[in-house]
Amino acid sequence: MTERGEEILLQLDTPPNCPQCEDESLLLARFPHSWRNASGDAVPGMREALLCRCCNRGEQPADALIALFTVDGLLDHHNVDTFGELRT
Ligand SMILES: [Zn+2]
Repeated sequence: MTERGEEILLQLDTPPNCPQCEDESLLLARFPHSWRNASGDAVPGMREALLCRCCNRGEQPADALIALFTVDGLLDHHNVDTFGELRT
């Protein structure tokens, strides 16, 4: 059972440039991320992460994703489905 707001969104078409090196990023992932406030209550929220082939090199699991881009050339809407299967 999937709750609303638990989806991970991947933006592959023209993701914003990397804020660190201002180079083109590979993808933008938007995913649920909750945190606790000062009272200790869980606060649901969303977080965004950019995958940059320069800045994220050498980090796991980013490195595995970058390798996937290198092998496949470019992810498209077909292998996004495969992506989805990976996290289940
Ligand atoms: Zn970068």
